[in-house]
Amino acid sequence: MDLEQLISEIGRELHAALPRPSRNPVKAMDARAMEMASRDAELRAALFRLVDVTPATRSLDDLARHLGAYLGEVGDRPPSIDAAMKASGSRAGRQALGVAAAGGVRHMAHRFIVGESPRAALKPLRELWEGGAATSVDLLGEATVTREEADRYAARCLEALEELAAAVPKWPNRPALEQDSLGRLPRVNLSVKVSALTPLMRPEAPEKGRDDAVARMRPLLRRAKELEAHLHIDMESLDAFETTMELVHELLDEPEFRDGPSSGVVLQAYLRESPEQLDRLTEWARASSRKPPLTVRLVKGAYWDHEVVEARQHGWSPPVFEVKADSDRNFEELTRRLLDARPLFRVAIASHNLRSIAHAIAWNRSTGGEDRDLELQILRGLGDELQQALASCGHRVRAYCPVGDLVAGMAYLVRRLLENTSNDSFLGEQQRGAPIEELLAAP
Ligand SMILES: Cc1cc2nc3c(=O)[nH]c(=O)nc-3n(C[C@H](O)[C@H](O)[C@H](O)COP(=O)(O)OP(=O)(O)OC[C@H]3O[C@@H](n4cnc5c(N)ncnc54)[C@H](O)[C@@H]3O)c2cc1C
Repeated sequence: MDLEQLISEIGRELHAALPRPSRNPVKAMDARAMEMASRDAELRAALFRLVDVTPATRSLDDLARHLGAYLGEVGDRPPSIDAAMKASGSRAGRQALGVAAAGGVRHMAHRFIVGESPRAALKPLRELWEGGAATSVDLLGEATVTREEADRYAARCLEALEELAAAVPKWPNRPALEQDSLGRLPRVNLSVKVSALTPLMRPEAPEKGRDDAVARMRPLLRRAKELEAHLHIDMESLDAFETTMELVHELLDEPEFRDGPSSGVVLQAYLRESPEQLDRLTEWARASSRKPPLTVRLVKGAYWDHEVVEARQHGWSPPVFEVKADSDRNFEELTRRLLDARPLFRVAIASHNLRSIAHAIAWNRSTGGEDRDLELQILRGLGDELQQALASCGHRVRAYCPVGDLVAGMAYLVRRLLENTSNDSFLGEQQRGAPIEELLAAP
């Protein structure tokens, strides 16, 4: 069968398996708020500023005042927002509005964050596992500026490894999530950020940040190996690329880590130089004497605005594609290269875009691969329905699950909301009701 035909078939099967629009009133309200925000740029800006300011507000009255002020900037207000504006004019109204706004923000944050601590996250993580999805835990916290913060982050990572490793043996068997054709897949999976492991990350001197982060990363790898856990190294903005890659290449090749732990890196398809980055990674993997295959998580990239603004400020041309379809096409090309390179890598395709996912499944099948040798990853809160559909169609799926408190979660939340409601995003298009032919069309 022709590849496009196969993509269309797989995409339609997944689409049909998506759970029906929720009857749960809270979820329906969430969807409505997202839809309103994706239609209206001013409302979106007002909501982001509210989410940003919530942890710093002193009282509900204060929070409602902020909300009233932000909503005042929205030109064409839907009736529900007009009513909220009127309420912010009186003290009693502000109290009620403050309670509703705080509840709304907290609710939204909890949609993305599985728990405030690894221990609090154990129950939702187990429920995901029982429902057919593996997980990767991400400890929230933005860029580290002091040595103490880096030490604290490393200690939290160790604590998370211990908590998870103690809990997972009691989870039920899920053969589809625990084995691929190369062997066993760890139940414990932790994603870490190099920028949180060192305050010395500087693009002009990557070796300084690398050496500092290596000192905190080594004990994590050691413990992960003992606990048979997987450690995944996230990719951040391009300034962090060299430090991150140097750290991976140096540490994972050390004799101590040649036979474990299972580890992985991230490739960002929005980067114009990502094909050459994959060349480098392939060369390294071929030359390395490491036994467990490196997992490569392919993403489009979460720092698009940052990369464009930063480049413009310096008068450089952006390192990222500027047309969304170029990122999508490159994502498909890298998908094919990664799948063709197996068993050198384990491949994880991280996307909420039905076309990108259906393309990966189709390429894997059409080149003789087994479904169990392709992992599909989603972000908790954004891809929950897709995760259910993938699991129900028998695919191996992993949910990326942030853990942290509300304040730490705000930057994460704002980024996810921006992504989810932008005009270019697949989820935005899907929410606006684009027909399936358009959603599955070749980029
Ligand atoms: C499990 C998981 C782990 C992740 N880990 C990381 C990580 O470690 N590092 C990281 O950077 N990201 C990470 N991401 C986020 C990811 O990079 C994407 O931002 C997100 O998944 C949206 O892409 P999509 O394919 O789901 O949606 P789509 O809507 O198909 O794509 C949106 C993406 O397209 C790109 N884009 C948007 N506008 C343009 C434009 N005008 N021109 C060119 N490209 C454009 C951007 O990358 C944007 O995020 C992760 C995502 C998942 C699901």
